[in-house]
Amino acid sequence: MADIVVQHALGAYPVHVLRGSATRIAAAVDAAAPTGRLVVVSDDTVAALYAGPLAEALRTTAGRDVRVVTFAAGEASKSLDTARTLWSALFDAPFDRGDVIVALGGGVTGDLAGFVAATAMRGVRFVQVPTTVLAMSDAAIGGKTGVNVPQGKNLVGAFHAPEAVVAWIDTLQTLSERERRSGLAEIIKSAWIEGPDAVDQVARDAAAMAGGDLDALERGVDIAARLKARIVTEDEREGGRRRLLNLGHTFGHAIETSTGYGTWTHGEAVAAGMILAARASEAFGFADASFERQMRTIVEACGLPVEPPDLAIDEWLDPMLRDKKRSGDGVRLVLGRRAGEIFDQHVEYVHLRSWLARNRVAAPD
Ligand code: NAD
Repeated sequence: MADIVVQHALGAYPVHVLRGSATRIAAAVDAAAPTGRLVVVSDDTVAALYAGPLAEALRTTAGRDVRVVTFAAGEASKSLDTARTLWSALFDAPFDRGDVIVALGGGVTGDLAGFVAATAMRGVRFVQVPTTVLAMSDAAIGGKTGVNVPQGKNLVGAFHAPEAVVAWIDTLQTLSERERRSGLAEIIKSAWIEGPDAVDQVARDAAAMAGGDLDALERGVDIAARLKARIVTEDEREGGRRRLLNLGHTFGHAIETSTGYGTWTHGEAVAAGMILAARASEAFGFADASFERQMRTIVEACGLPVEPPDLAIDEWLDPMLRDKKRSGDGVRLVLGRRAGEIFDQHVEYVHLRSWLARNRVAAPD
């Protein structure tokens, strides 16, 4: 598929969505950062599967000096403690400003290794090699890096653009079914922002993507990565269009918060959140019933939840009001009219409250 480019304040970088072996991925990493020693940073799960073959291919086919540094898999590792361990691992061996970090893994690895790259020696180059659907479709693109602190997620971080994003589609074979399906929520969201052709394609590919078909996943990731690249190029620091990427996320955030993080995955919460966004779009007079119906069919075919949990009104509203989506006497919600017509809308608190009261657990007829 044709390559994708992100433009940013200091330059531009390509996003490659690639099928193939470690050798092909190594060639793309080598081309993106042709000089310096390489440090592959990966969680222990991904490292056991892919760091060896990638490092070997970088050594043998590209003649690069490579070492691998690992950390324990999981969101808990996205912390300053792990960043400190990684800084030490970098500086305990020869490492200088011309060297390059290769973030091989999911969104946790990309955010953490990107943050370490942004801060080590005031910034060294890094290449993103995402291995989850979520990271390929969203997290690896856009230059946001960071870690969690006890007060909240992603509160410490930096914008630091990679040299390239090299999505290694073949690695999705080993991703758990639940992680794979969760990532599809970002693809569905992207298709609705993109337009009717993308929604039709995702509808056709939904069951195949959910089942792990790599051709279908490649087409889906391509839609999402292309859209994310275009939106962050237009809006690098989240002033306008980048907000559209929150479709389903405000309701989803309330689901994740009110059910306790980890009960619903992020993608499951976003999926049910998109259905609520479609219902709200109809209730507030923007869309007809076909928006929700089509959204529901695709979400269901992707094996994702179509009904939200039964939360009390305040369990919906409190997280929204604490969140940065609050605006004056209401909240900002991403709603829509139809595929390709998704917008950021101020909704008054009283209207949202009475709609939630009417729809709390109600499924459509
Ligand atoms: P993750 O990186 O924790 O990966 C999920 C799990 O899958 C991990 O256990 C990992 O070891 C495993 N895994 C990854 N690739 C695998 C593969 N190919 N085969 C087998 N196992 C594999 O989580 P994620 O869902 O990819 O990312 C979530 C993170 O992304 C969150 O911290 C979130 O805040 C962040 N995020 C960042 C941005 C951004 O713009 N920077 C955007 C969205 C999300």
